[in-house]
Amino acid sequence: MAAVKDGSPLFPESVDAAIIGGGIAGSSLAKALADRGRKVLLIDRKAFPRHKVCGEFLSPESIGMLTELGFAPAIQALGPAAIRAARIHAFGGAPLRVPLPGMAWGLSRHALDDTLHRAAGLAGAEIATGAAVAAMRREADGYALHIAQGGFAQTVRARVVIGAWGVNGRAPDITGGETSGETRRIKPAGSPYLGVKMHFSGIEAADEVELYFFEGGYLGLSPAGGGLVNVAALFDRRACRETPTAVHGWLDLARARCPALARRLDGAAPVPGTQAAVAPVRLYAKPIPWDGVPLVGDACVTIPPLCGDGMSMALRAAQLSAAYAERRLGGELTDAEWEEAYALAVRRAFSGPLRWGNLLQRAAGKPPLARAALGAARFMPSLGSLLVRATRLKPTQHNDSALKDTHPTTG
Ligand SMILES: Cc1cc2nc3c(=O)[nH]c(=O)nc-3n(C[C@H](O)[C@H](O)[C@H](O)COP(=O)(O)OP(=O)(O)OC[C@H]3O[C@@H](n4cnc5c(N)ncnc54)[C@H](O)[C@@H]3O)c2cc1C
Repeated sequence: MAAVKDGSPLFPESVDAAIIGGGIAGSSLAKALADRGRKVLLIDRKAFPRHKVCGEFLSPESIGMLTELGFAPAIQALGPAAIRAARIHAFGGAPLRVPLPGMAWGLSRHALDDTLHRAAGLAGAEIATGAAVAAMRREADGYALHIAQGGFAQTVRARVVIGAWGVNGRAPDITGGETSGETRRIKPAGSPYLGVKMHFSGIEAADEVELYFFEGGYLGLSPAGGGLVNVAALFDRRACRETPTAVHGWLDLARARCPALARRLDGAAPVPGTQAAVAPVRLYAKPIPWDGVPLVGDACVTIPPLCGDGMSMALRAAQLSAAYAERRLGGELTDAEWEEAYALAVRRAFSGPLRWGNLLQRAAGKPPLARAALGAARFMPSLGSLLVRATRLKPTQHNDSALKDTHPTTG
């Protein structure tokens, strides 16, 4: 189908790579491929900038990844807040302050994601926001994507397609070729988890990320830059008889269940328009590297939010994916070899941290266990650091062979 606005195409008619989802993983992947001279189309169903459910805590590992991918100067210019420690409040016990192994940043996803998006555009990627992939067909030499945007529609041909649609997005089934929707796509699992976030003014933003654990969930409070604090929470709806319909209602529920949080938010004023919610938040036991197409970011691996490291995983997956997609586009790998090699690299990088993250998530849902773990960490601080390290990507995994073989993505 030809395109359409004022007689000219909305998007390029053909690209090397179409990336579905323009969050932190999709944008960094788009930039990495565009930096290598590839023609890229980055598609997101939302208009940008947009608020996004996230604790907005950039761990030292995330900052390392952003630096490696060439984003650090642009992000530093946004004035992120410095975070030096975590303060943990669990089920009414005394809080525990844990110094972080390195500097972390607090920064609004509204600003962060917009900056990554712009960086992808500056590197040469075409950006389609407020756009939906209505259909996807396998062809001999790639895919035909039927893309709709604001009442207009166009078919774009892409040699490869990569899914970066986040924790609960999904693209249409793939028709045609050997991959049929019925046989190849993974059926999304149900999940009891719901995430919410909102910015607040009127209370002091400390140089700490604060974690509050209460029956039915946990909440993170951290500086978001510009004197604001970000409040983000994950609820297990199985432990919530009340089911508020608005973000305010969920945050009131957290305050009611956690007196320390209620005291901390005393006098805080919500910033209108900053609220966001997402459900279900699917926490998988294992990474899902491929679902008809390769996946990156939360679509591929969702580490429980309490680890505060989803963004570094999203960025690492984008870095890995760029290296393997480049090898596919350069004719070095067939589709089957690409799938096998990428799946192996993803499992190697993420399976360990995911296993530990899921263990911590289960402990957080059991107050006696969580209290005991916190008590043990109080007397043996190295235990806390050990657990945190177990949920992090290993530095040696930077040495993935695909990353060595290809040009680095900084620029
Ligand atoms: C409550 C909570 C707190 C968290 N706190 C932290 C934290 O403090 N630190 C941290 O590092 N991580 C945190 N995370 C995790 C972090 O937010 C994610 O790991 C990260 O956003 C993943 O990036 P992504 O690009 O994969 O997905 P996203 O950032 O979600 O981006 C996905 C994009 O895909 C788009 N999309 C979806 N479906 C389609 C479709 N069909 N077509 C087109 N576009 C589509 C969406 O609009 C979205 O823009 C938290 C998560 C939750 C739920």
